[in-house]
Amino acid sequence: MTFEYAPAPESRSVVDIAPSYGLFIDGEFAEAADGKVFKTISPATEEVLSEVAQAGEADVDRAVKAARKAFEKWSALPGSERAKYLFRIARIIQERSRELAVLETLDNGKPIRETRDADLPLVAAHFFYYAGWADKLDHAGYGPNPEPLGVAGQVIPWNFPLLMLAWKIAPALATGNTVVLKPAETTPLSALFFADICRQAGLPKGVVNILPGYGDTGAALTAHPDVNKVAFTGSTAVGKAIARQVAGTDKKVTLELGGKGANIVFDDAPIDQAVEGIVTGIFFNQGQVCCAGSRLLVQESIQDELLDSLKRRLSTLRLGDPLDKNTDIGAINSAEQLARITALAETGEAEGAERWSPQCELPSTGYWFAPTLFTNVTQAHTIARDEIFGPVLSVLSFRTPEEAVAKANNTQYGLSAGIWTEKGSRILAVANKLRAGVVWANTFNKFDPTSPFGGYKESGFGREGGRHGLEAYLAPSSEASVK
Ligand code: NAD
Repeated sequence: MTFEYAPAPESRSVVDIAPSYGLFIDGEFAEAADGKVFKTISPATEEVLSEVAQAGEADVDRAVKAARKAFEKWSALPGSERAKYLFRIARIIQERSRELAVLETLDNGKPIRETRDADLPLVAAHFFYYAGWADKLDHAGYGPNPEPLGVAGQVIPWNFPLLMLAWKIAPALATGNTVVLKPAETTPLSALFFADICRQAGLPKGVVNILPGYGDTGAALTAHPDVNKVAFTGSTAVGKAIARQVAGTDKKVTLELGGKGANIVFDDAPIDQAVEGIVTGIFFNQGQVCCAGSRLLVQESIQDELLDSLKRRLSTLRLGDPLDKNTDIGAINSAEQLARITALAETGEAEGAERWSPQCELPSTGYWFAPTLFTNVTQAHTIARDEIFGPVLSVLSFRTPEEAVAKANNTQYGLSAGIWTEKGSRILAVANKLRAGVVWANTFNKFDPTSPFGGYKESGFGREGGRHGLEAYLAPSSEASVK
């Protein structure tokens, strides 16, 4: 594996990043009430990209009030009118997708090939999909008066900043809710560009409000008494804290949390295809994916052959400048995340698992972690149980389908799984026994706005995407009429 750092200024020039950005409240960019700001950097170079206003409690209050005021008119619009705005937003996202892809790559560190070919097309697709629902709610068994919940307080992570925003904002607006959204502290920029897109689309003031900040901003938002719906994506620890915080209130909650997905490869699997799926499963976005296939469960009889192929494939991956179109592995999102991954990998070694990485030179600035495999892993190892959220694959083996299912389910999480086999009957039999919200067969990490996504167990509750994603933003009376 090689590292070649070749800055690509021509790509960089398609996005114009201002030296500072305000909060987006009631259709205007504004300073924080207490004047606080924080810096956002490029994790690939540690260059400061911009200084961003940091929302405090007073700003949260102001944004929630703006969203409440806007709710009266927004929720009263016919669905066909709301659809027009959402279609407009979707089209502007498409028109500005090159700029947004470069921006996201700069702020997050993920390869431009991913932001260009995966994140941005999916972001636009989500807005198109929910725009299509907005005028059909009355005619889809939802009853004559589907009721939005009111103001949605939404908190998102840094791994897919714009896509997580789309998952949250598109269904909320389609159903007539208004939004206050807090992006993650390490990736605030694409949400602020989205605020500009809302203005460009002529979205009424206050329907979408964006509040950059840290965890305390998120906590102030989810605790605000005038927020009716809390939608959170992030770690299981924070998800549990939010669940405790809203317990005893009348807020509706959806939580999308961590995962420890099993990628199960049977002895009749097409090996080359499985190797590609394993690579996509754990190295897409440097493994910083809640539904990553971070545990490889391989049938014992093909373990040696599969691992040989996998190691050969990993040796061809290119790590480096995320703006280079040939890069496969970009930067880790932050110094904190790199420290977390490094510590868990060291624990893996200390507990006796065997560590392997392809020959790889890492750059001296920025946050980098080589693709890593651990073999000789057992269920007792920390790396088999804890979410690493990095480019680290733990390999376990099994002999029978029953053992594969038992091992796959032996986790506190239940977000994703993959099955690799030629036998259709086995796919159905195994998929039905897996306690995971998404099960892929002979593929991995494929997303579609029409499919509901969400977890079992400590991976959270509620679903985003598809019709289920709408129901999470409708009042119980309307939900009752769906059943
Ligand atoms: P995190 O929980 O630390 O942060 C997520 C967001 O919550 C950030 O915006 C953060 O500022 C905010 N936050 C922190 N403390 C808060 C509090 N007390 N109250 C309200 N908001 C608070 O998680 P992270 O490190 O940013 O993201 C990684 C985690 O997210 C992983 O565990 C991953 O599995 C999970 N994730 C899940 C999904 C999913 O759909 N299930 C998708 C992406 C990421």
